Amino acid sequence: MSGFNRGEVIVCSEPYAHALGTEYRGLRCDHCFKKSDDLKRCSQCSFVYFCDKNCQTRGWGLHKLECKYIMSAKQKPLASIRLISLVLLKVKKYGMDNPFEEVLGRKMSFGTLMSHSKNIIKSKMSYQLMLTLMHEISRYIGPANVPDPEEFAETFGRMRVNGFSIADDNDSEVVGCGVYLGAAVFDHSCEPNAEVVFDGVTLYVRANQDIPQRDINHVFVSYISQLQLSHNRQRTLKELYYFRCQCIRCTSPLYDDKMIEMLIDEKEAEEELRKTKERLKKLEKMMDQHANLSAIEEECRKEIEIQNNVLGSTNIYRIKTLEIAFNVCIKLKKWIDAISFGKLLTEPYRFIYGPYSRHLGIHLFKIGKILLYYGSVTEAEDVLTQTEEIMKVTHGDQHFLYQDLLKLLAQFQK
Ligand SMILES: [Zn+2]
Ligand SMILES: [Zn+2]
Ligand SMILES: [Zn+2]
Repeated sequence: MSGFNRGEVIVCSEPYAHALGTEYRGLRCDHCFKKSDDLKRCSQCSFVYFCDKNCQTRGWGLHKLECKYIMSAKQKPLASIRLISLVLLKVKKYGMDNPFEEVLGRKMSFGTLMSHSKNIIKSKMSYQLMLTLMHEISRYIGPANVPDPEEFAETFGRMRVNGFSIADDNDSEVVGCGVYLGAAVFDHSCEPNAEVVFDGVTLYVRANQDIPQRDINHVFVSYISQLQLSHNRQRTLKELYYFRCQCIRCTSPLYDDKMIEMLIDEKEAEEELRKTKERLKKLEKMMDQHANLSAIEEECRKEIEIQNNVLGSTNIYRIKTLEIAFNVCIKLKKWIDAISFGKLLTEPYRFIYGPYSRHLGIHLFKIGKILLYYGSVTEAEDVLTQTEEIMKVTHGDQHFLYQDLLKLLAQFQK
């Protein structure tokens, strides 16, 4: 067998340690992160929740490390503190090399992960941040469980470099965070040939195109948001991962040019772009401050009207404005408007994220569903058929979202 086929699972990884986001406590299971109205509390700490006996038994291996500390903690720990503490306690109990995951011949354990600990210690800001964290963790699990700063930097660094936000793909929320050994083996590219997708807390890395070599060195995932210009991506990569990306999108100016494409004269373009960015910042601030949705929608409309004759379709500031408009219209249940804004995002997403990306699949799925219930059934069938083709690759036919999609598609067969 040579190479990976598009849609093939390259790695399937269960978390080494994971913690549910603090705001989801009591709403989702602490083990599998699924939503439930009938969760059972841990009988000892009464702090974490499980779906049922099954999740409790499967989650106990990890939870038993923390349960007694949670029980005696005056102030219950936040998710980030819980996660680092779990890792510290796990490493203390089983060592750095256990457990391990084998990925295409490479053995991955917590000890094999990159830590960049020297860089953390060298940077005054990172080091201060780390000391504050150590202090808080020491109050939670006791000083005896917290190693000296140098050793702590090894754990802290590994988690900073290799931590994953766990997304609930259904509504694109981040519901928790985790460390995955198998998935940590891949390098980054701003034009990745593999997608990271979660099904509950199980992480899948799937090829989004045919990859000729069956070799981990030829598989790339994206560590960061692709919806930013190369200098911003480079800054994030340097700050968090300490390297300079040399991928095609970072070395060829063509991509940045398209991401700030303007429809007007070069002389005016710079000034117009500056003004656009300023107005977009205001819009984003309104979103952050949960301003009145109708007011945001009104502003978006005005903004998009201006942009129509000024910004190219793949301009990231236009994409970001359309994203706000799309989401606000969904919240306002203005379906027809949501459809028209959503459609304007489809082609730009294909350019930014690639034709078989999780991002594009989820986006088309949303539009297809809205079309089905509030728009045109014929068009819905077309969009959902496109969605199926993408999600079969990015999510696979066993994923719950893909199964939901099949149920919708079955209606058209009648
Ligand atoms: Zn407990
Ligand atoms: Zn569960
Ligand atoms: Zn790059």
